[in-house]
Amino acid sequence: MTSLSKPNLLADLLQSVFGFARFRANQEAVCAAAVAGRDLLLVMPTGAGKSLCYQLPAIARGGTALVISPLIALMEDQAAKLSALGLRVARIHSGLERMVARQACVDYLQGELQFLFIAPERLRVPGFPEMLAKRKLALVAIDEAHCISQWGHDFRPDYRMLGQYLPGLRGEGAPAPVLAMTATATPSVQADIVAQLGMSEPSLFIHGFRRDNLGIEVVELPVPERGGAIARLLAGPERRPAIVYATSRKQAERLAEELSQGRSAGGSAAWTARRIPAAAYHAGLDAETREQVQRAFQAGELDVVVATIAFGMGIDKADIRTVIHAGLPATLEGYYQEIGRAGRDGAMSRTFLMHSYADQRTHDFFLNRDYPPVEQLMEVFRVLGEEPQPVEELRAASRLAEEEFDKALEKLEIHGGARMDFGGNVTVGGTGWKKTYRVQAQYRAEQFAKVLRYTEQDECRMSALVRHFGDVEDAQRACGVCDVCDPAGAVLRQFRHANAFELDIARRIVEELRGVDSRATGTLQRNLDLVGRIGRDEYDALLGAMVHARLIEMEEAEWEKDGQVIKFRKVRLTEAGRELRNWSGMELLIGDGIVRDFAGSSSSAARTRKAKPAARNGAPAGIAGKAAAAEPVRLSAEGEALVERIREWRAGEAKRLKIPAYMVLHDRALAALAQARPANPRELLEIDGIGPGKVERFGEEILRLCAGK
Ligand SMILES: [Zn+2]
Repeated sequence: MTSLSKPNLLADLLQSVFGFARFRANQEAVCAAAVAGRDLLLVMPTGAGKSLCYQLPAIARGGTALVISPLIALMEDQAAKLSALGLRVARIHSGLERMVARQACVDYLQGELQFLFIAPERLRVPGFPEMLAKRKLALVAIDEAHCISQWGHDFRPDYRMLGQYLPGLRGEGAPAPVLAMTATATPSVQADIVAQLGMSEPSLFIHGFRRDNLGIEVVELPVPERGGAIARLLAGPERRPAIVYATSRKQAERLAEELSQGRSAGGSAAWTARRIPAAAYHAGLDAETREQVQRAFQAGELDVVVATIAFGMGIDKADIRTVIHAGLPATLEGYYQEIGRAGRDGAMSRTFLMHSYADQRTHDFFLNRDYPPVEQLMEVFRVLGEEPQPVEELRAASRLAEEEFDKALEKLEIHGGARMDFGGNVTVGGTGWKKTYRVQAQYRAEQFAKVLRYTEQDECRMSALVRHFGDVEDAQRACGVCDVCDPAGAVLRQFRHANAFELDIARRIVEELRGVDSRATGTLQRNLDLVGRIGRDEYDALLGAMVHARLIEMEEAEWEKDGQVIKFRKVRLTEAGRELRNWSGMELLIGDGIVRDFAGSSSSAARTRKAKPAARNGAPAGIAGKAAAAEPVRLSAEGEALVERIREWRAGEAKRLKIPAYMVLHDRALAALAQARPANPRELLEIDGIGPGKVERFGEEILRLCAGK
């Protein structure tokens, strides 16, 4: 392995074997660690080039790499791609003839293979691990490694046993390194993977979760208003193709029908809109229909698919411009994967998450359905015995409804309380299932709590997601395009200027924070005697506005009392907040969760529990607001010239700051500026796409350009 010390060996292999001129972000460091024989855990989103990170080191180390994968389709896909590169590959799984498996073993023992793919349950076949151990492996790659964690809903009992086989497979001396790979592991699942696999001092690589071309918005919107809002959002062709994620089959059917008809199917919030070619997609449809919908969407005959979470796995469509969640997702991992389907071509795309209190109740219902009470599992567990019994008989004898019974048996099997043989006969398992089942149900509930926190917090949406996946370093940078970073650029979420009363409270908050390091938000509220004078939501919204204006910083904190962890938030002044003395001309933009009247004039949209503020520019709020900004604006020759000047200046700024041009100024802001020609910062803030942050950074320059200087 002396040749491995050559620094360009990896680059040479990348070129000669895979035909790539250079590595994608982070790949080289991962490959180098693996070639050096280090155990490593790799958390990278789908499509970021994860597979290469085990394939290239395997070739560099020589010999056979063992790849363990729980999904036959994934295994087949990767094996086919490697074979196409001229590499020697075999796979063993239940979908293949016995002869194929036997030949694979012969080839392996003769040292003919570079890659051997197996399903985890294969290791339970007597003699198979011993056969593998006859040769020293180049490395062991474990795909979809999150399946090992009993917390995740993808938990695979067979994966749980990998840990006990690994020492034998790695061999003596310098053991073959273990590479665990996944696209969706939170820090706690990461720790679980490392522990379960017995990895020794693994290198952690968590990369690539940031997406620069996704503008994320989160809006509070009552359920009946969502259909209309979605129809208006997607009316502009520039926002399509689009995927809308619904929380139930019924909602998916209804939304697809409404979008295609261009009007609401009744209910309290009537609306009409342009018809949009749309179809529903969910697990309740037959395979042929699903196939048709998928094909039509792929081919561009269908602009919008309204789907439950089942949709998207097989979708390879690069130009999806919008992803909308018409309800709260169950986990941030799922949410991230779903919004990640937008903008694969790199062009700017937007995502919208709609939620309200009602979503929490829907979710509680699903949680109860997916994780029934322990008593229900006990009902099934009690009737199991040492003698194998057919499932049908047990089901018939049970007092549970069919679905309840099946769910309870499934959970018992996953957690070891029941064993099922290949003939579908059940025997009783161990008694330890209750504990791990409770842990999993609890974990699932916590995941949802994290989704709720995500909707409430005042942190850049993209940073929050990146941090959720454990990339703390990358989470330091704000995205500049989400509704938190750029409130004025938000399409659906509405912000308003703080009134005198709120500005006064903001001023008192700043005074109170002077001279202290930080204060819990609750303490602050009491100290200023605000309890009862300003609602909890209004108080939170005001603090959020102060965070946006960079006057204060907020952080999550916790303390323990009687063994219980209590979470709270605390705030402190920023540098700018400390130095602020003069409040005249101070502007604060408050995001109050109320949506611009996107749902149409006849609806009661936006008359939520809070009073609706007047639209920012005094005109009636409505579709004529920001949505219309997408329509081309006719400019005078003078106006055109101004757009050019601003564009030129923007290019220079983008280059100087090393950021994309749209992060300096949206395209849609250019024409709006040329038309409105703002003369002061207040007028500048009225422009679609320009928020307080932009005014602060670029305001002076933009105003100078608009003034023709
Ligand atoms: Zn952001």
